[in-house]
Amino acid sequence: LRFEDMNLSKEVQKGICDMGFEEMSPIQSQAIPVILEGRDIIGQAQTGTGKTAAFGIPIIEKCDPNGNYVQALVLCPTRELSIQVAEEIGKLAKYKKGISVVPIYGGQPIDRQIKALKKGVNIVIGTPGRVLDHIRRRTLKIDNVSMMVLDEADEMFDMGFRDDIALVMNDLKEERQTIFFSATMPPEIMKFAASYQANPEIIKV
Ligand code: AMP
Repeated sequence: LRFEDMNLSKEVQKGICDMGFEEMSPIQSQAIPVILEGRDIIGQAQTGTGKTAAFGIPIIEKCDPNGNYVQALVLCPTRELSIQVAEEIGKLAKYKKGISVVPIYGGQPIDRQIKALKKGVNIVIGTPGRVLDHIRRRTLKIDNVSMMVLDEADEMFDMGFRDDIALVMNDLKEERQTIFFSATMPPEIMKFAASYQANPEIIKV
């Protein structure tokens, strides 16, 4: 399957074209239609499979550029991955005017992040500890998030972020989409997912 067969908006198509993507990877052809439909997903996929665009493209497509609030939240295990994911989503969203993407992670001065968040962002990508810190300071409002992504969930659990992630998830509204990506699917992850997802589509590549 090719991206041009996907019925995506012109703006998103152009962003994809700029990246040089033509054919969808297996995870993308399975995940993108399901996420566009509004359903929850558990995707088992390693790095390098194109999983970032698999959730990034439908998120951008569904983001409302007129809504000046956080619509999508992506949690990642490390600052490097947060930056990388924010960059890729930022590039893909280049032609969708009014969509802003911001990475927030530990180690960076919090004032700079507060300033960026104050401007009004649509897609936030960050590490669980720092995201929770911003929620507690009320510098990040997630009550209108309709798309929640856990990227490399197994890695985040191994790093001890489980409780932080649960605290973030408990702050979300009910009417939302929840997307989990993980390289492995241990029972701990499946159990966690079951308590936060509704009838998820399970995808393996
Ligand atoms: P990821 O698994 O998300 O880390 O992506 C791995 C690499 O593949 C990144 O450099 C992406 O930009 C690239 N990529 C993702 N999807 C495609 C695609 N459909 N065609 C070509 N390259 C892609």
